[in-house]
Amino acid sequence: MKYISTRGQSPAQSFTEILLGGLAPDGGLYLPETYPHFSDDGLARMRGMNYRELAFEVLSRFITDIPADDLQAIIDKTYTAAVYCNVRPGENAEDITPLHTLEPDLHLLCLSNGPTIAFKDMAMQLLGNLFEYVLAKAGQGINILGATSGDTGSSAEYAMRGKHGVNVFMLSPYGKMSRFQTAQMFSLQDPNIFNIAVKGVFDDCQDIVKAVSNDHAFKQANHIGAVNSINWARVAAQVVYYFKGYFAATADNRQQVSFAVPSGNFGNVCAGHIARMMGLPIRHLVVATNENDVLDEFFRTGVYRPRGSANTYHTSSPSMDISKASNFERFVFDLVGRDAGKVRELWGEVDQGGAFDLNEGSIFGKVAGFGFQSGSSSHANRMQTIRNAWETWQVMIDTHTADGLKVALERREADVPMLVLETALPAKFEDSIREALGRDPVRPAGMADLENLPQRFQVMEADANAVKQFIVEKTA
Ligand SMILES: *Cc1c(COP(=O)(O)O)cnc(C)c1O
Repeated sequence: MKYISTRGQSPAQSFTEILLGGLAPDGGLYLPETYPHFSDDGLARMRGMNYRELAFEVLSRFITDIPADDLQAIIDKTYTAAVYCNVRPGENAEDITPLHTLEPDLHLLCLSNGPTIAFKDMAMQLLGNLFEYVLAKAGQGINILGATSGDTGSSAEYAMRGKHGVNVFMLSPYGKMSRFQTAQMFSLQDPNIFNIAVKGVFDDCQDIVKAVSNDHAFKQANHIGAVNSINWARVAAQVVYYFKGYFAATADNRQQVSFAVPSGNFGNVCAGHIARMMGLPIRHLVVATNENDVLDEFFRTGVYRPRGSANTYHTSSPSMDISKASNFERFVFDLVGRDAGKVRELWGEVDQGGAFDLNEGSIFGKVAGFGFQSGSSSHANRMQTIRNAWETWQVMIDTHTADGLKVALERREADVPMLVLETALPAKFEDSIREALGRDPVRPAGMADLENLPQRFQVMEADANAVKQFIVEKTA
């Protein structure tokens, strides 16, 4: 399997060649040159497989340059009940992504049972083990530099902690994350994890990462890498749980299901799109946004109009506060019939702060054929949905999952199972739960005392040169 760029001007690469990188050299995103396809027989064989077996079945089609035995070992080490142990009462951690049925044909697909209790662990834990394996083979090391306002940073740190050949330098805005999120990251004592608390806001952190990455000489000399949401391996890993959820919610492969996906960077639902392209019987992929609704606007109108950070709202589902959905380019590549010239033209506009309208040339008319629908929520909707879930089904959901459930209920159809992807546990967003329900969420075992653990972090000015110097000192 080779990977090509959505902008069509980079050479095709193998999986391990693109694993450690980000964008393709031409500025595009990597996608497989063709999607593997599962026939009815293939799907019938997969029904009844456990998570690790399914993961191998799917990922071995995408990862053809790691020997099968090694890939199986990496998967077996990643997807264990011990790693994904934070399940709801009554759910079996062996399922890895248990299906929690609310009522007939309405389910939560629980993706938040990993170490940071958010769905990013599903892919990031695999990435940690893939990085360690590939770097050891190549006799190399990597210094991952990232900026976070919450979920991505902690998920990356928990995936990379203790991994040979990997250091993580994670910038976060000093004093601006929730106490829980801060404690989750800063309590890590592993010598390869460096928390840098920047005196500034999230955008300052991101600017530093950009400045360091644009210093190509520094980047090369210090083996600087990233684990951002456009990483192909993360998308590929997420494809697996669409299969797992499908088999758990259906009795045979003639049935269709729909998925409702709380969306920000379009990474999660992009994996659903790929699962559908691979032959999984998905009827609708329902894109759910919060007030930052650029994606909902596109799926309603055909116009994609990313917004700047000044027009990005801070909401009570903060991990979806994104107004430029980086993985969206992957879907549009397929939508325009894989015409890389067209993608270059469209993102030529976007990269200059513009917008595009796919009603021209009737491209937008093809969206329905890909199964997409959408909707958005407000803070009041989230509060109402959290209360409704608690009163109706006695289940506590977080604000992001509430965005998904709200839109799922609007888009539900008779006799089509609807699976809402649960992207975080409520314990991660205590303040919102308290506001909605007047009570505290239960914390998973082992996290009760998180804020009182000793913390390890470095406070720094918002200065790229200081960060560079810090990296050089720590890796000397
Ligand atoms: C990252 C995140 C999302 C958004 O996922 P995308 O892949 O960026 O669309 C939704 N919910 C939670 C809790 C997240 O951490």
